[in-house]
Amino acid sequence: MSDVAQSFALQSELRQIANLVLLFGFVLTLAGEWLLPPPGTRWDRARFVHGAHNLALWLIGVVFVSIVFGSTVWALLQWLQMRGVGVLYFAPLPGWLHAVLAFALLDAADYVFHRLSHNLRWLWLMHAVHHSDPRVDATTNLRQHPLHLVLTQSWKIAACAAIGVPAWVYLVHEILNLAFAYWHHAAIRWPRVLDRALSWLVVTPRLHWNHHSPVQERTNSNYGVILSCWDRAFATLTPPAEEPAQFGLAALAAPRWHSAFGMLATPWRARSLPRL
Ligand SMILES: [Zn+2]
Repeated sequence: MSDVAQSFALQSELRQIANLVLLFGFVLTLAGEWLLPPPGTRWDRARFVHGAHNLALWLIGVVFVSIVFGSTVWALLQWLQMRGVGVLYFAPLPGWLHAVLAFALLDAADYVFHRLSHNLRWLWLMHAVHHSDPRVDATTNLRQHPLHLVLTQSWKIAACAAIGVPAWVYLVHEILNLAFAYWHHAAIRWPRVLDRALSWLVVTPRLHWNHHSPVQERTNSNYGVILSCWDRAFATLTPPAEEPAQFGLAALAAPRWHSAFGMLATPWRARSLPRL
């Protein structure tokens, strides 16, 4: 089999793994939440309604993203790789080092976009839908505004083109990104000692709890998803939270912000809110 055919076969396998992680990551997170719930967890009607709204928004997002991009993302990433587009292709690097640098720089690009999503008002109005969730659990990971999903995907394609990220490295990063995002948002009793130890290298649930705090200084910190080094390097790291105290955004606490329609309309309805 030629190198190109091998590369395409690998990408096809990685895409299947990404879909499996998306599905089974959700099921595993739910199972973990059922078996190891934090103190005071109640599986009541409110929790199911909350989950249903988040899932409805996610489904709308999936349809919207597939309408906008179709299969162009994969075709584009393969084209970029075959043409050798991006800075790293100009450096005479061994394959393994190219892959490691591409992975790290793509992760840094994710950090930058997440930080921009908090600092540019128009992006924040979309990203606030994720942060307004008064609970943080398996479904919070899926609670993203469809327009923000499209912009995130566009940013990633642009980052791959600028950096020179091979398509398979992008897919490996996506798979880890998904797995880490489920882990961060899981409402599971999670050992403090282990969290502290791992937080030196990667973003842990207790680091991410701070990012979902209604206290603005904490919300505007811990932007990383996989590696914690970017927050450390750019002085945006706050230490792991002790316990999941309170989540959400005070300005978007009312029930009308949490229906599927309320979340879709947030970027327009919330424009004039002074405290958001
Ligand atoms: Zn955020």
